[in-house]
Amino acid sequence: MRFFFLLPLSLSACTSLNTRLPELPAAKVKAEKQAQEKAVFKSMSEYRDRLHRVAYPILRANAELCPKTQLDSGLVTATATNYAKELRAAARRELGVSNDPKVIYVRPGSAGQKAGIRASDMLQTEEGKPLGAGKPLEAVMQSGGNIRVMRGEDSFEKTLKGEEVCGYALQLKMTSAINAYATGKSIVMTAGMMEFVKSDDELAYIIGHELAHNTQSHIRKSITNYVLSLGGTRYTRPFEAEADYVGIYYMERAGYNSDNVEDMWRRLAKLSARPIGRAKTHPAYPTRTVQIKATREEIEQKRAANVPMRPELRRSGR
Ligand SMILES: [Zn+2]
Repeated sequence: MRFFFLLPLSLSACTSLNTRLPELPAAKVKAEKQAQEKAVFKSMSEYRDRLHRVAYPILRANAELCPKTQLDSGLVTATATNYAKELRAAARRELGVSNDPKVIYVRPGSAGQKAGIRASDMLQTEEGKPLGAGKPLEAVMQSGGNIRVMRGEDSFEKTLKGEEVCGYALQLKMTSAINAYATGKSIVMTAGMMEFVKSDDELAYIIGHELAHNTQSHIRKSITNYVLSLGGTRYTRPFEAEADYVGIYYMERAGYNSDNVEDMWRRLAKLSARPIGRAKTHPAYPTRTVQIKATREEIEQKRAANVPMRPELRRSGR
């Protein structure tokens, strides 16, 4: 019986502190909040710009190998509602976003850049309707590409010609976990991963790997296999190996250098040691690193022999 009395007592002890904490002026807390939000938007913009800059050549160079392609403008737009509720006021303040889409990034070398569109421009259809990147802009590009660009007080007309790229969206997830994943429709990269990669080549490897999960239909197959194997995930490991194999091709075809991208797994092994010796759902790190090296050698031989750099298929087809 005593136990039941003790429990509430120990909980209530939390509410009466032993020490007297310093007073916190509300204005100081508010100023600190704004400073932290400013820093968040600065790093979020840096991660996003880098993710798009590094991924764009990969999505473009592999369009002929991707089962799903789209007409790409190279423009990234945002509205205030693209941000979590708690960050919306800060997004309006720091990025100047509103309810109508605003260009926040232009991929270097893209159709949008060639048309002279800049970050902070706002786009409209010929009829004057606010226009955001993605499906709405793709539809406009498919029917001629005439748009109106609003730049400060100015407004002028442009013709935007899209470019065929692999049809998967890029998403940044603001969390410290070192992770990346594919959804079948998009490639998701965490802030933790953006911090963890040491070079554009390493980031290109992760993007290539996740793109391969999408193009090789691993997500759909996993679900099917899940049903077939009654709850097992025994196909995950081959899928990871295949995503590494195809992903290395994707990055090399886009001009990135896969020399030593396996160093990433060695660094990861130092942070979480278990997968060095254990392979449950994912290949063990040593298997991975050796396979990446073997793939690179296969690609090098093709480069030397001047034959097209395409992943080797088991049977004919894409
Ligand atoms: Zn994977």
